[in-house]
Amino acid sequence: MFSLAGRRIWVAGHRGMVGSALVRRLARDGHAVLAPDRGALDLTRQQQVEDWVDANRPDVVVVAAARVGGIAANAARPVDFLHDNLMIEANVMAAAAKTGVAKLLFLGSSCIYPRLAQQPMAEAALLTGPLEPSNQWYAIAKIAGILLAQAYRQQHGLDFISAMPTNLYGPGDNYDLESSHVIPALMRKAIEARDSGAESMTVWGSGAPLREFMHVDDLADALVFLLENYSAVEHINVGTGSEVSIAEVARLIGDVVGFTGALAFDASRPDGTPRKLMDSGKLLAMGWAPRIALHDGLADAYAHFAESVQLRA
Ligand code: GDP
Repeated sequence: MFSLAGRRIWVAGHRGMVGSALVRRLARDGHAVLAPDRGALDLTRQQQVEDWVDANRPDVVVVAAARVGGIAANAARPVDFLHDNLMIEANVMAAAAKTGVAKLLFLGSSCIYPRLAQQPMAEAALLTGPLEPSNQWYAIAKIAGILLAQAYRQQHGLDFISAMPTNLYGPGDNYDLESSHVIPALMRKAIEARDSGAESMTVWGSGAPLREFMHVDDLADALVFLLENYSAVEHINVGTGSEVSIAEVARLIGDVVGFTGALAFDASRPDGTPRKLMDSGKLLAMGWAPRIALHDGLADAYAHFAESVQLRA
């Protein structure tokens, strides 16, 4: 067991959905969290990262910073997803290694697994087949990050670990219709359809793909658990073990926001990978379990989104 008590914890990417959930969780537990301004620290710039780490001396680092986005954003900005993510993870790990941190946790996602990996996807499925082309840019960068963390462990004996969360949603998500993931996009579309009295709302693709979704507060809880209890070469999956179809999640979202109209499926938009369920048996066997059911989590995300829209209005 690794204790976080008294540690200087740096959550790189503390303003993102995952980073901010983790900061909330760590603050609630009374931990000191380092949170540099974005203006003061560009994680794609090696010198800036080294200087900042040198000056601030974190002893625990969580790499939650990344260029992230949905199926359309990956297609539109492949350089951002590949280049920027490679730079961020390489710079943060190099600086953490140089200063000699006690623990580093690197975050990726379930899209690192082959497109047609056997379901549910266990950690051992990594690099066993071709990737889903629609998010290969992000996936290759994250696979490189896992291997880099392993390389630091092997060559320098550092306690670097990696966690691969399933599809996430929750407070702080990106609600831009073209670049977001499916849950915030459908939530926004359902609200707009409800408010305009539309008969239907548009869902991309066939509605048939299956996805596993986790509320980001459950992920933050799992990350604290892993920092304290996990130290091994192999990355570890963080999922809920349940999956829903895109059509089902669209109906649940309609229910949460009060949109009762029909779903119109837009076949001109891609489905992406047909199924993406992770095998999180390794983590569950360690004694961790998610707590937030999908319907409750969607209601919470909606409450936060409605509040943020009101604040901006
Ligand atoms: P993925 O899990 O990497 O494929 O990323 P997304 O969250 O962007 O998409 C998940 C699935 O939801 C895909 O099958 C999309 O086609 C589908 N989907 C349905 N409607 C939407 C939408 O409005 N936005 C997005 N991003 N995906 C949608």
